[in-house]
Amino acid sequence: MAGVSAAASILSAETDRSIGYCVVGLGRIAGHYLAGMKTAKYSRVTALVSGHRDKAERIAAENQVPASNIYSYDNYDAIAGNKAIDAVIICLPNSMHAEYTIRAARAGKHVLCEKPMCTTVADGEAMIDACRKASKKLMIAYRCHYEPMNLRAVQLIREGRAGTIHTIESANGFNIQPGEWRLNRKLAGGGPMMDVGIYSLNACRYLTGEEPASWTGQMSAMDHDGRFNEVEEDLVWSMKFPSGVLATCQTSYGVNMPGWFRVRGTKGVIEMSAAFGYQGQHLMARVAGGAPIDETSPLRDPGHFPLETDHLAECIFDGKEPKSPGEEGLRDMRLMMDIYRACGRA
Ligand code: NAD
Repeated sequence: MAGVSAAASILSAETDRSIGYCVVGLGRIAGHYLAGMKTAKYSRVTALVSGHRDKAERIAAENQVPASNIYSYDNYDAIAGNKAIDAVIICLPNSMHAEYTIRAARAGKHVLCEKPMCTTVADGEAMIDACRKASKKLMIAYRCHYEPMNLRAVQLIREGRAGTIHTIESANGFNIQPGEWRLNRKLAGGGPMMDVGIYSLNACRYLTGEEPASWTGQMSAMDHDGRFNEVEEDLVWSMKFPSGVLATCQTSYGVNMPGWFRVRGTKGVIEMSAAFGYQGQHLMARVAGGAPIDETSPLRDPGHFPLETDHLAECIFDGKEPKSPGEEGLRDMRLMMDIYRACGRA
């Protein structure tokens, strides 16, 4: 019996481990986090930040968040005094990520920040610095680093099942509606590259496990309907990795390109469709040492989100660095700026 009660108390200690998250910015991606945290092991929503009190009160009621834990952008720094908040999730337009990450760190909170990390390399460095000085974790929300099918593709490559990798192709894009903040360069930092091309860029890095040694790029705007006065519409780029792997990628705000990648090696090919979406990752591989692989992820939206919030929670409990820390976001930021320069962007 003593064994049973010891086991019960270990279980209760385990399930009592939870991190209270404050969701900052209540737009589309915030909705996925809120829904996802309902099934999370170690994460729960305890506070909200919004510029719209009515919306925040409705969402608070739906998520059992007390109205006293609703903050505005003006009194955001007061989260410092709220012990129910361990960490924030930054779900704001890209150029606001730096300010709200730095203010959170100064308020003594850990940070899960949406991609792209920020809009300038200097902002990314300042975010890392602020979290380091406050001894707080900074994790960038790269969903695919936690998504099982993407991880399986990486594992097949690391096991050598596709032989020596020679090329990677990838695309991710969509046809954007007018009026989005994503078309405002000050808020977005750039066009589809910053928003969705970043998935292809990041995939080439995690699939190879290498950092690009050189790159080229071209961009254009074909639709003269006012959407692309400030940001690019289409961008195509290539990268060469130190091993010799060549990657070619494209992104667009003008045409739909459901995210995919294809990796070709001397012993086979690994492809993934719906690679970067919220669900439906479909892995197809013809590689050495087994039958053809044709698997679709059983995870349904919002299943990716608790994988992220629980990962940060475990890092906080165990004093570990997140698998996608600020430095990972900064590497993509530097590369995106380099690729923009290669495209001739001022
Ligand atoms: P959204 O427009 O739906 O939400 C943005 C929120 O920020 C809104 O609640 C809006 O009211 C608030 N906001 C505060 N100040 C604002 C301002 N000056 N202008 C515009 N909005 C302002 O955007 P979203 O699609 O949720 O994107 C938010 C972030 O999440 C972006 O960085 C985006 O890249 C990222 N994102 C990530 C994923 C993913 O799969 N990881 C998917 C979508 C978006």
